[in-house]
Amino acid sequence: PSALREVLVEVPNVKWDDIGGLGEIKQELKEAVEWPLKYPEKFQKFGIRPPKGTLLYGVPGTGKTLLAKAVANESEANFISVKGPELLSKWVGESEAGIREIFRKAKQTAPTVIFFDEIDSIASSRSNQDGDSGVTKRVVNQLLTEMDGLEELEDVAIIAATNRPDIIDAGLMRPGRFDRHIKVDVPNEEGRLAIFKVHTQDMPLADDVSLERLAKETEGYVGADIEAVCREAAMLTLRDNMDSEKVSNKFFKEAIEKVKPSKSESDMVQY
Ligand code: ATP
Repeated sequence: PSALREVLVEVPNVKWDDIGGLGEIKQELKEAVEWPLKYPEKFQKFGIRPPKGTLLYGVPGTGKTLLAKAVANESEANFISVKGPELLSKWVGESEAGIREIFRKAKQTAPTVIFFDEIDSIASSRSNQDGDSGVTKRVVNQLLTEMDGLEELEDVAIIAATNRPDIIDAGLMRPGRFDRHIKVDVPNEEGRLAIFKVHTQDMPLADDVSLERLAKETEGYVGADIEAVCREAAMLTLRDNMDSEKVSNKFFKEAIEKVKPSKSESDMVQY
């Protein structure tokens, strides 16, 4: 069985409303990805080229993958997700063929969004210098070739994500490649409140729960942390009493004690 069969095309079910906050980023992604896929003729009419690739960067757990899925869904496009490290491991010895296959599949199923998660693992300027048999260099070159070869009307949009934008190969950032860079920040209090709302949407809450207060008390927590807090609060409630009807504040407080924030100043990469 050929490894080439492993390119999975999916139709994500994430909606914009499943993502708390990040309003400006949603709009930017609409313009960079949804418009070119849905209204290519408008770009032609105005004589402008849509951006080819969009780079989402920011610390882990801030919603980059969710955003890529949502923009694909809302654009009524298919979605191909590739993790950088997978390209090297799963496709051992055929990483370049893997890249070619991904683009072939994308064109075949267009409109399609290709999402390269952890792009730094294949496209870091550092790994390219390592001389590790030049594999990553060749993979990057193949990626560049495919991106350069994409015609505007082929209905393929490319999104990459990284939490190390500082080490990405400069060649990938040039015009016509990943020329749109969007920072996905750690949420502020307002963002955290929106994320708490998303993750308690289907959770019966006791009257003593104030999402506003929880948002205030969770400085440094990213979306993934807040999801973990909500899940943990519900689990603690069930563990306490299987017949509980609602999740009370006490268990949110315990959950916050347990789930530590991802973002601590010491391990922040400076962007
Ligand atoms: P990584 O760099 O680790 O891939 P990421 O930025 O891609 O992280 P996601 O995978 O999108 O992060 O988020 C992980 C989980 O955290 C999501 O499945 C979701 O449950 C939750 N989450 C993150 N951000 C948000 C948000 N803004 N609103 C709601 N949920 C969020």
